[in-house]
Order: sequence, then structure tokens, then C-alpha cells
Amino acid sequence: LNPERERLSATERDIEKVLRPQAFEDFTGQDKILANLRIFVQAARLRGEALDHVLLHGPPGLGKTTLSHIIANEMGVGIKITSGPVLDKPGDLAGLLTNLEAGDILFIDEIHRLSPLVEEYLYSAMEDFKIDIMLESGPNARSVQISLNPFTLVGATTRSGLLTAPLRARFGINSRLEYYDAKLLTTIVLRSADILKTPITDEGAFEIARRSRGTPRIANALLRRTRDFAQIKGNGSIDTPIAQYALNALNVDEHGLDEMDNKILLTIIEKFKGGPVGLKTIATAVGEDEGTIEEVYEPFLIQEGYLMRTSRGREVTEFAYKHLGVIKPGGNAT
Ligand code: ADP
Repeated sequence: LNPERERLSATERDIEKVLRPQAFEDFTGQDKILANLRIFVQAARLRGEALDHVLLHGPPGLGKTTLSHIIANEMGVGIKITSGPVLDKPGDLAGLLTNLEAGDILFIDEIHRLSPLVEEYLYSAMEDFKIDIMLESGPNARSVQISLNPFTLVGATTRSGLLTAPLRARFGINSRLEYYDAKLLTTIVLRSADILKTPITDEGAFEIARRSRGTPRIANALLRRTRDFAQIKGNGSIDTPIAQYALNALNVDEHGLDEMDNKILLTIIEKFKGGPVGLKTIATAVGEDEGTIEEVYEPFLIQEGYLMRTSRGREVTEFAYKHLGVIKPGGNAT
């Protein structure tokens, strides 16, 4: 479902849980979002009400699921987790909604992938805490309206552009998570290493952090792989040389771009003269899913200045030529 998450094995998911911050104060970065959420949570608690519905958007691995758990903890309420593609029929959603207790959180990951029918069903639930359910079928079928406990919907999406306007309008709180800088990721790596009881130097943590595509999930994953290298090739503790050794072995380059990042850039340069070229064409040429390129790879390449999105398609920048050491035809970039 979530392309990034699906690649995780069961054990890796368990480790993710262990590393997941549980309270606002364990969560690093996204300061503005956090400051606001703290206030909204506090105010809702004072009023004894459910928190307003929250929409979290941003690339995978930046902390959307983590934040929804934290909100539940800080509100002192329960949380139920589902995702857009899993909710096939309005009945699936009705089952979840009617089981929520007052103030509970319903987390819907990939909310942009709800079917239109389920989405429409969600509207009255979000707005009036009421849903219609069908009783019986055939000639006796009739619909009755039932009241729900007030609840908070937390929706997460990697593609906010795909959200319909009516759905978007029903969220009172709307936050966009940003990529993390190397300093914040260093803090996260140090915290995770501490939980995993892995000795690490500040410099070693920084080396992993600055090559993690601005993403906590990747930083944690690289930390775990580096820990393996430290155990087998070193003395068990992580310093800069071990981190460099591990990251190179994992094909993460000096700037933190991974194999697919570089393949995308190189393909656009070599096969399409640097672009502009359409997303679908790129996807076919590199053998990766179109959605994954758009949600996972492209946002980082654009933010870091390697790629541009133009009306005629994707185009690599001069910086990308420099990075790959390719001379731009007619240019003088080396
Ligand atoms: P998303 O839902 O946006 O895909 P997650 O919330 O599942 O991302 O986060 C992925 C992993 O990264 C989790 O293991 C979580 O512990 C870690 N993580 C994310 N954001 C932070 C943060 N701000 N501080 C510490 N760890 C984080």
C-alpha cells in the first residue's frame, strides 16, 4: 500500500515501533506543527471535547503515523488504524466508526485512496457524527441514521493534491510535514542508537543523518544497517569511518542519494537529453512504479535542486549534471 512501508519486513516494523516517539517531547523537529498541535490538544482537553479533525501530509517516513499516535497519547484516548485502500465498502467504515469511544482517534493512512463511495460516507460522520446504515436487504431494506461518539479523524496522505475539495474542507487542522535537516536527523539517530543500545559518536550519527534523504525512517534504517557493519567489520560502535564504509556498501552516495535517485537522474540525462520528459516515461525507463517516483523520489530530488517539474515534464538541473559528473551538451558543467 504505502510503497515505502511495504518494503519493511515484520521485524523491521517491530523495531519501528520501539523507535517511535510516544509523546510530544520525544518528537524532534516540525516545530511549528508541534507547537500548534500542543495548543489544540490542550484546548480540546480543557473543553472536554474531541480534537478537531487533522490532516497530515508529506512524503513517507516523516512522522505522520507517529504524530497520530502521539496525539492519541496526549489526548488520553484510543486510536484505531486503517488505510484508504483497505476500506472497500461503506460498511467497513461503519464498523470502525460505531466502535469508537468518545474522543477516540481514527487514523486513515493514504486517505487520498479512499473510494468515492466511502469518502462520501465519511462526510456526515466527520461533520455531524452521524451515519446512515442499511438494515436488511431486498424489499425490506431501509436506512436508519445512527449517532456516533464524537471522534477525531486523522488523515495522512503523501499526495495532498489528490484529495477532493469537500474532504479537505472537513479538516479543521491541516499540516504539511517537511523534510528534516541533518542536525535534526542527528538528534533522531542518537536517540535511536540509545534505545538500540548501540554506541555511536556524534560525528558517526551526523554522517548517517546527512545521508538519509531528510527522512527519519531512512535514518533509522541506515542506523540499523550501519550497526550490522560495526558489529561485523568493527568493534561494535559506530564512528565516521564505519558509517562511511556502511553507507558506501549500501550504495548511498556522498550526498545521500540512493541508487534509484541516481538512476532517475542519469536516465533523464542519457536517454532524454536532460528532459523535459513525462513521469510515465521515466517510470518505464527506470523500472519503478510511477506513484513511487512521484511520492518518494521526486519530492526530495526537487527540494535538493536536482530536478525541476515543468509544464512539459521533468527536467534535470545543471546541479544534477555536476553531481553525476556528466558534461551537459552545449554547456560547460563538469
Ligand atoms: P509516516 O507515517 O509519515 O510514513 P512514520 O510516522 O511511520 O512516518 O515514521 C517512520 C519512522 O520514523 C518511525 O519509526 C518513527 O519512529 C520515526 N520518526 C518519524 N518522525 C520522527 C521524529 N520527528 N522523531 C523521531 N523519530 C521519528
